[in-house]
Amino acid sequence: MPDLLRNLLIRAGENKPLAKQVTSRRLTRSLALRFVAGETLDDGLAVTRRQAAKGKTVTLDFLGESVTSQDDARAAAKVIVEAVGRIGEEGLPAGVSVKPTQLGLKLSEELCTELCCDVAEATARIGEHLTLDMEGRDVTEATVALVERLQQAGHAHVGCAVQSYLRRTRADVERLSRAGASLRLCKGAYAEPERVAYQSRTQVNASYAECADYLLAHGNYPRIATHDDRLIDHVKVVANRFGLSRDDFEFQMLHGVRASLQDALVADGYRLRVYVPFGHQWYPYFMRRLAERPANVLFFLRSLRDT
Ligand SMILES: Cc1cc2nc3c(=O)[nH]c(=O)nc-3n(C[C@H](O)[C@H](O)[C@H](O)COP(=O)(O)OP(=O)(O)OC[C@H]3O[C@@H](n4cnc5c(N)ncnc54)[C@H](O)[C@@H]3O)c2cc1C
Repeated sequence: MPDLLRNLLIRAGENKPLAKQVTSRRLTRSLALRFVAGETLDDGLAVTRRQAAKGKTVTLDFLGESVTSQDDARAAAKVIVEAVGRIGEEGLPAGVSVKPTQLGLKLSEELCTELCCDVAEATARIGEHLTLDMEGRDVTEATVALVERLQQAGHAHVGCAVQSYLRRTRADVERLSRAGASLRLCKGAYAEPERVAYQSRTQVNASYAECADYLLAHGNYPRIATHDDRLIDHVKVVANRFGLSRDDFEFQMLHGVRASLQDALVADGYRLRVYVPFGHQWYPYFMRRLAERPANVLFFLRSLRDT
């Protein structure tokens, strides 16, 4: 997709009046359901059960980002801890993901660390991993440092996503792996300038392959998050060359994207985790998914015209 359109969609995802417009339309809400389990925790758990029945594990994600009050951060943490509790009660094969800015990273590092510790303790109780999503470049360093702090505080099961489009990521992969964190490698879903991020597909993919190679050789249970056939094949070949078993790493994909590829990997004996978001704040997440694929945008525009 031309960068201009991609960036426009991502920026539109940050526009509050537009969010109100889009989220109030029935048709766009039903379109969003392709990528989002629904607005409630029960919706998220229902999709989790369905994915589990197909031999997949899940990362459940309560949607929300960049909260503007400490109360909102605490309320989000409460829902996430409740989600972990429900996962544990049902014995579902699922962990959770959180956005650090949803837990107040932009308001207070201290508060965010405290709330991440609450979620980390809950996930430890059910023996599940906790991944911090990686957001925009304004919080990259703060997120990496947060993972280091959590590791130092004894939360060995906490890691984060890393984005291959960022020039700094190859170094972060080494830094965080040394700290003991298990990482989710993705390409990156935000609009970042050339100063900090590779702009061409070729460079982003080359960086992805390089980071994946490092993780497969030296990382801690790499989490390979992509729907890109070529990179998936690359990882299979390299893992095989390094003598890794199919249980030494996992592929991760998004709910609603390339479901038949997900099923094929499971049938082939690979571990596959699906990222399942739920919650009413689905608008920025939905816009980032639209930005990833031109066909999604056409579908979306047609629905706006028809409402
Ligand atoms: C489990 C998981 C967690 C993620 N966490 C983060 C995170 O924390 N931070 C972050 O910045 N990004 C995150 N992302 C998003 C990621 O950075 C990419 O934007 C997204 O995955 C698309 O990149 P790709 O690797 O699939 O490759 P692409 O080259 O974009 O896509 C490869 C193929 O996959 C299909 N595809 C990809 N996206 C879509 C879509 N939206 N709709 C329909 N088809 C699609 C298309 O067939 C496309 O040709 C995550 C992605 C996954 C899978």
